[in-house]
Amino acid sequence: MLALEQVLEIRRLLDAGQLSQRRIALKLGVSRGVVNSIANGRRGLHGRESCVSYSRDAPEVVAHRCRGCGAMVYMPCLLCRARQYRLRREEQPLGSPKSRVA
Ligand SMILES: [Zn+2]
Repeated sequence: MLALEQVLEIRRLLDAGQLSQRRIALKLGVSRGVVNSIANGRRGLHGRESCVSYSRDAPEVVAHRCRGCGAMVYMPCLLCRARQYRLRREEQPLGSPKSRVA
């Protein structure tokens, strides 16, 4: 479970583009999978929403409509995450997110 500040900090470091996802994960003491899902826009949005309004009456674990595969899943969607992980490894072996910014 991530604090919102952690999510925002990861987001900020990702946007700065100076550290690799691996470095960011090490720096903040989180797993690479977490940094990766934030890089893909998932964790960040989800975290922001749940902090504002959903957390009161919704239990911590709620099924969401996955934007990747369209199924109702517990986020982050493991299926999409595994798929993305595989894709990323094929496309960019070093995991550099630079092209996203340009
Ligand atoms: Zn999915």
